[in-house]
Amino acid sequence: MQPLEIRNSVGWESRINNALTQRRCTWSYRERVPVKGGNNRLIQYENRCYINFSSNDYLGLAYHPKVIKAWQDYASLEGVGAGGSGHVIGYSSHHQQLEKWLANWLGFPRALLFTSGFAANYSLIRTLVASGDHILADRLSHASLLEAAIYSPATLLRFAHNNPNSLKRLLHRSCNGNRLIVTEGVFSMNGDVAPLEELKKVICGTGSWLMLDDAHGIGVIGEEGRGCSWEKKNQPDLLVVSFGKAVGVSGAAVLCTEQVAEYLLQFARHLIYSTALPPAQIAAIHVALNIVRHEDSLRQRLLENIAYFRKGIENYGFMLSSSKTAIQPLIIGDNLRTLQLAHRLRERGIWLTAMRPPTVPPGNAQLRITLTATHLAEDINMLLEALSNERKG
Ligand SMILES: *Cc1c(COP(=O)(O)O)cnc(C)c1O
Repeated sequence: MQPLEIRNSVGWESRINNALTQRRCTWSYRERVPVKGGNNRLIQYENRCYINFSSNDYLGLAYHPKVIKAWQDYASLEGVGAGGSGHVIGYSSHHQQLEKWLANWLGFPRALLFTSGFAANYSLIRTLVASGDHILADRLSHASLLEAAIYSPATLLRFAHNNPNSLKRLLHRSCNGNRLIVTEGVFSMNGDVAPLEELKKVICGTGSWLMLDDAHGIGVIGEEGRGCSWEKKNQPDLLVVSFGKAVGVSGAAVLCTEQVAEYLLQFARHLIYSTALPPAQIAAIHVALNIVRHEDSLRQRLLENIAYFRKGIENYGFMLSSSKTAIQPLIIGDNLRTLQLAHRLRERGIWLTAMRPPTVPPGNAQLRITLTATHLAEDINMLLEALSNERKG
């Protein structure tokens, strides 16, 4: 979104310069850092080694030998690119099998693959809603959901975070069109989980559809890692899963009815006009998902690490968040203080990211700590010690 004070009359350079200056002044300027070691447990940057507490690869599948081998084998057999959109030439028997597998695993009639979770969310919302509709989204919904909603012809209404009563009030507003309720399973910054059962009770009988973005739930929550809606009673009308987090690869899928799938195939531009995921990547995703499904031991390791971290952090006087998932935020508040803390932790060999507005609400800058199944107890000890030194110092 453009900052308000930027007028269109100032010319390209001035407009861009104003926006950049505003970012710098508020300590919210973003920079990327070229690390080595991918998103492994240990990463390198400028010849130093760090313990990685920033990765969403919660089960460590990006480095799983079977996943790597699937990608390599199928790249040799079928090349590295899909050659076109799924509507032209990019839809292979691998894509078809994976879609069937996903629909079956997650209990929906159909699944459609997308190149990313961002594209899936954007496309689904933009293709479904029309003028006169209401989109009722949790206030802390991911940028891809809000972006689509803001630029759609529908009216966007936001309900208080994880608050079914707030949603209920918004459902009382008169609406001439259809209502789409949007929320996340595990929230990407807070790590807390949506109260799906309560939300569904509020929605029941209103004719609204519930869309759930379970990017951070799939693979880690519920039986077989089927995500936050693994129980039938919590199933949404539309489910979006991303393969860039716990599945360790990238790509996404929309789970829906037969009718919605056919509708998306006719009208979703991100599907029709974008090159499909390469078959080799599909093979890697498929192997990774089979590991997700059957390796409860990885989820168990992750849960142990989460419990170990939370027990430790309680002793050090940092505010413990309510999150019981792999995402463990330390809310600091001020942008500059959060940046400085991240910097000092880096000096101690701990790699963390300072999350600042607009990624989080104003005044809620945080260190986003992510735990994975690959962390060792000694890694977590090092993090806890570094944090406790900060507290003392
Ligand atoms: C990461 C994320 C996305 C985007 O998914 P990609 O596959 O990375 O594009 C969407 N929603 C949420 C909640 C996310 O955290």
